[in-house]
Amino acid sequence: MFEEFLKKTQKLLVEDIRNFKATMDASPEMMCLSEGGQTIYVNTSWALFTGRLVEEELGDRRFTSVHPSEQLTTTETIHTAFKKQIPYRIKYRLKNKSNEYGWVVEDGIPIFSSTKALLGYVSKCVNIDIQVKLEEQLSSTEIKYRRLFEAAHDGILILDSTTGEITDVNPYLIELLGYSQEEFLGKKLWEVGAFKNIEASKNTFKTVQENGYVRYDNLPLETIDGKLIPVEFVSNSYKAGDIIVIQCNIRNISERKKLEEIEKRILNVEQEEKKIVFISDVTHELRTPLAIIKGNVELALKSTNDSTRETFEIINDEVNHLSKILIDLVVLTTDNKIIHDTIISTKVDLKKIILDVVKRLKIISTKKNITIIAEDLPTMCIYGDSHYLEKLFFNILSNAIYYGKYEGSISVQGSVDTEQVLLRIKDNGIGITREDLPNIFGRFYRSEQAREINKEGTGLGLAISKWIVEAHHGEISVDSALNKGTTFRISFPVLI
Ligand code: ADP
Repeated sequence: MFEEFLKKTQKLLVEDIRNFKATMDASPEMMCLSEGGQTIYVNTSWALFTGRLVEEELGDRRFTSVHPSEQLTTTETIHTAFKKQIPYRIKYRLKNKSNEYGWVVEDGIPIFSSTKALLGYVSKCVNIDIQVKLEEQLSSTEIKYRRLFEAAHDGILILDSTTGEITDVNPYLIELLGYSQEEFLGKKLWEVGAFKNIEASKNTFKTVQENGYVRYDNLPLETIDGKLIPVEFVSNSYKAGDIIVIQCNIRNISERKKLEEIEKRILNVEQEEKKIVFISDVTHELRTPLAIIKGNVELALKSTNDSTRETFEIINDEVNHLSKILIDLVVLTTDNKIIHDTIISTKVDLKKIILDVVKRLKIISTKKNITIIAEDLPTMCIYGDSHYLEKLFFNILSNAIYYGKYEGSISVQGSVDTEQVLLRIKDNGIGITREDLPNIFGRFYRSEQAREINKEGTGLGLAISKWIVEAHHGEISVDSALNKGTTFRISFPVLI
């Protein structure tokens, strides 16, 4: 009876072992290790995976197929696990049938007898080569991105697309705006001083959230010290894994703006040069007909009777005046060096010249009821050309009248010391705006207001005046307050 039972049990055990082996063989790469850590069995998948015969994997031999760099760690891990009788996990490169290494991860579980004695380990091995290579690629892409991010010559901000919180900022932007990394990170875009136009920043964020893109060609950003930097701001959202992030690229365009400004100035200079060439040509063309008119008027004056004489005299005066304008235009459109030679220097008293000019201007000053106070001037002798100096004071004083207020007043004050003659011509007229002030000595420059008031002006008067003062080794400057008045200061070296 017992014999019978023993036979059945043995049969069952043999079947169990067969079933166990069949299960092992149908499983992915698996092996059994003895309680001493020796490989005592590898399944078919393992043999197929390594390309070696089952016998070649038994004992300690499989360790020779482990990549030399991981041999020590894998042996140590297994050794410790066996000692502590606990599961283990090792990751290593295993040589396959083509003699190439591929990454695997091996999990071993201890098997105990009913009396809790360690029988050995059953280990499962999974090929993770593709996964490891993908991870490596990903981390190298990440490193490359990080490098670009850190070395970029554009400011970059990364925002959380739902909250608008800054999750990353690159060193360039930190340096550009002067805020520390802590002052950016974790803050919402509009909580950082540089984007302090809260409404605008919130709207920008909303637009990127809705449309995925926003761009501003010229946005002023304020640095921590209150300096405004013009930037180009481009922001777009994209998927990074499972989350959507918003990237803001911020380009400092100060240099580009400066270049544009220079280009504009060059263009202005070119345009002015063209104007000068044009005026020079026109001036040249006008000189001959004017000379003919002048000759004929002079001839007519000789033979005319009293009734027409006055008319001819007026024509003669105006022709002379026109000739002077032409001469001024020649002055301004010819090389300075050539003109210097035309200055005839003699001893002149500026007081006399100024009083003559005031007399000539009486006709227009009385029309506006403007008083000119110049009588108390001292004698002011310099070495100069009376024609040009007369022109200088005519320009300055006629401007003071044109741009003066009705019933206003103009005062001319002068002083002489051991070195220089100093003149101050002051009016209480319309004044000059701050923007116009630096430009008024430029050729053809006229303020908006001046264009309305004095339609015949050319914008050449002050340019000529400056030229005349400098040709006499003097200096001219101006002070003005809008709607209060203007003061011109002129100085010349004194004649001792
Ligand atoms: P314009 O022919 O226009 O008078 P100017 O060269 O003499 O040309 O003057 C240049 C500009 O300077 C004027 O258009 C005007 O805007 C300003 N200006 C000159 N003098 C005065 C003044 N006394 N008061 C106010 N503005 C003045």
